[in-house]
Amino acid sequence: MERPPLGPAGIVVDLAAIRANTRLLRATAGVSLIAVVKADGYGHGMVESALAAQSGGAEWLATATIEEALALRAAGVEGPVLCWITTPTSDYAAAADAGIDVSAYSGEELDEMAAALQGRAEPARIQLKVDTGLSRGGAPRAAWDELFTRAQQGESAGLWRVSGIWSHFACADEPGHPANDRQERAFRDALALAEERGLRPELRHLANSAAAILRPSARFDAVRCGIALYGLDPAPGEATGIGLEPAMTVTAPLLMVKDLAPGDGVSYGHRWVAEQPTTVGLVPVGYGDGIPRHASRPGAPDAAATVGIDGKPRPIRGTVCMDQVVVDLEGDRPPVGSEVVVLGPPSAGGPTAQDWAEACGTINYEIVTRIGGRMSRRYVDSETGADA
Ligand SMILES: *Cc1c(COP(=O)(O)O)cnc(C)c1O
Repeated sequence: MERPPLGPAGIVVDLAAIRANTRLLRATAGVSLIAVVKADGYGHGMVESALAAQSGGAEWLATATIEEALALRAAGVEGPVLCWITTPTSDYAAAADAGIDVSAYSGEELDEMAAALQGRAEPARIQLKVDTGLSRGGAPRAAWDELFTRAQQGESAGLWRVSGIWSHFACADEPGHPANDRQERAFRDALALAEERGLRPELRHLANSAAAILRPSARFDAVRCGIALYGLDPAPGEATGIGLEPAMTVTAPLLMVKDLAPGDGVSYGHRWVAEQPTTVGLVPVGYGDGIPRHASRPGAPDAAATVGIDGKPRPIRGTVCMDQVVVDLEGDRPPVGSEVVVLGPPSAGGPTAQDWAEACGTINYEIVTRIGGRMSRRYVDSETGADA
């Protein structure tokens, strides 16, 4: 019998899905879209995701770090880019040269920027981040006045132009959470104070994916969408079914099929033991590829993470290893070389990132962002048929 060729496990990203999701979000929000491509585009590839989002109508791109933003430029990506994580060693002059908007959180940071930007012919572009209740980055309310006053002084001195003021929600995925109203009110207070201090930012933004979809009052001049661009629901269970398409599919070949007798233990620690004659299959993906070891849930076989083979869910048995997992074929004997859908859109016949998240007690963001490791990533375009 001829065996089908066995390729290694790999990631396929459909750029048409990112483009379509971008169009949908842009149309839903009705304001500028800032496409968030940090952390290698949530595991989908930063540069390719950025270009796909731009071709779907995203006016802006955003990354966490200056280094990520500079990497976009080094790859030839043009257009407005915002970033928000800096350190005292950040190269503010390089960011300014590359036309990147850097976010400032404090007066000290403005001092560092001023020192780095002294003597430049053109003003840099900066955005101010205010903390409205996430208690993470950004100036706390008590420091808003100082941040705005010093930012305005730097603007008057020609060091920079304050192009934006922004903040970030803590509970946007729970639309009924009282923190959302409080944060939006606080953000409006910040904008009013900034105006009193003489700032006229063109880009005021607060909403992430969940708020962009669920909270029209928070859209302001732009929304910052990450997870929804990649087609995953930012607020599972909150009826955000606007027709997003998951862009990532992970597949692997079935490497081996074997029979176990009652009492045979599976994988490290024998944390799963066959109670009856069982057929299992070997799939070459593991935590070295970003498959969470948390998917090994001894004692909770009904909640086990699954992969899809022939469109059927096949539960993972025993501990997820670095390079492989063992799955229960439940009496079937699919041929070696069969395609295993490790993760993908529902139409792919395997689990979704959301299914993995629920099996592992995490969120879909973490599942796709950690996928990678040694797996290769391939890009396709289901709209044009291109296979890059
Ligand atoms: C990651 C991030 C986003 C994107 O959030 P999503 O929920 O993925 O849309 C927006 N703003 C900030 C500050 C972020 O860190």
